[in-house]
Amino acid sequence: MTCRNLYAFLTAIICLFAVSNASAQTKNNTLYTAGHASAFIGGLYDAVYPYNKVLKHGDFGLGAPDKLDGEVLVLDGKIYQTQSTGKTFEVKPTELTPFTVVNFFKAKKTALVRQKLTKNRLFSYLDSLLSNPNGIYAIKITGNFNFIKTRAFPPVKKPYVPLADMLPLQHFFSFENVKGTLVGYRIPAFMDGPNITGYHFHFLSDDKKGGGHIIELTTGDVTIEVDELDSFLVDIPQTKDFENFDFKKDRREEVKRVENGKKD
Ligand SMILES: [Zn+2]
Repeated sequence: MTCRNLYAFLTAIICLFAVSNASAQTKNNTLYTAGHASAFIGGLYDAVYPYNKVLKHGDFGLGAPDKLDGEVLVLDGKIYQTQSTGKTFEVKPTELTPFTVVNFFKAKKTALVRQKLTKNRLFSYLDSLLSNPNGIYAIKITGNFNFIKTRAFPPVKKPYVPLADMLPLQHFFSFENVKGTLVGYRIPAFMDGPNITGYHFHFLSDDKKGGGHIIELTTGDVTIEVDELDSFLVDIPQTKDFENFDFKKDRREEVKRVENGKKD
C-alpha cells in the first residue's frame, strides 16, 4: 500500500491504494437496472421485478419499493427498506420492486478519508478518484458520519403523479455521529434516461435501524471503496403502463429536483 497526499485542499492524510483484483474484472462487471429511471420518476410506481431476480445480477445497489413506499438499499445481498416513518427493515426477496439498480461489488480502489467533508466536498474528492468521466462507478463508503440527512417518500395511491410533484410529501431524517454505509453510483451522462446520472447515494446505519436517500452529509473518518463497471443492462418493464409511457417529454430537470429533494 502506498500513501500520498492526493488532494491539495485536504489537509488530512488520505491513503489511496489499488486492490489487486485483475481476475475479478473479467466477469460480473455489469450494472443491472430493473426498470427504467425516467419511467419510474414519471409515475410508473407499480412493482414488477422480484428482488430475488434482481439479486441474481448483484449484491449491492439501491432502488425503490413497490408503490414508492420509501427507499431501498441493497448491501451484501440483503435488501433494506426505509419508509416515510423512518422505519427501516429487511425485505423478503420474494417482494417486488419497480426500479432497482445493482452490481456485484468488488473494490478496485480504496481511499481513507480522515477529514470532515460535506457532500459537495466529498463529491469533488470522488471526482479526483474516479478518473474516467464516462466511467460507470459503484461506490461504497463506510465509517463514521458526523451528519446525515436522508429522505423517504410515503406510499402512493392511484392516479399516480410524477415524483417531482410529490416532493412536498417527502419526509426527512437527520442522524448525528452515526456509523453506517453509503451505497451509491456515479453514472455517466450517456446513460441518462434508463438510469439516474451523476452521484446517487442511499444510506443504511450499522444498527440497520435508519436509512434513506441522501440529501446532505458530513463525513467523519470513512473508507471509500470504488468499483468501475464496464457494461450495463436495462430490464424493461413488460407492462401496458410502460408501453403507453410518453418518453418524448424531457424529464431531466424533474430528475435533478427529485435527486436533490428540492421542490423547485
Ligand atoms: Zn435515491
